[in-house]
Amino acid sequence: MADPADLAQAQLEREEALRRRACPAPILPYSGQCYWCGDPLPVPRRWCDAECRDDWERDHARRARA
Ligand SMILES: [Zn+2]
Repeated sequence: MADPADLAQAQLEREEALRRRACPAPILPYSGQCYWCGDPLPVPRRWCDAECRDDWERDHARRARA
């Protein structure tokens, strides 16, 4: 059985891929920590959850427009 956390992560990756088509964001390397809050994460996660990802994307979009 797949780990529910893996399924959630797969869902995040799918959403991210869809969103990138509409608003291209840089492909981020896996750094071992959350891009938003800096919490340590197992590769290949780049954010803790959808909340961190959305906050980061909002901030990134704001900076990209500035
Ligand atoms: Zn986070």
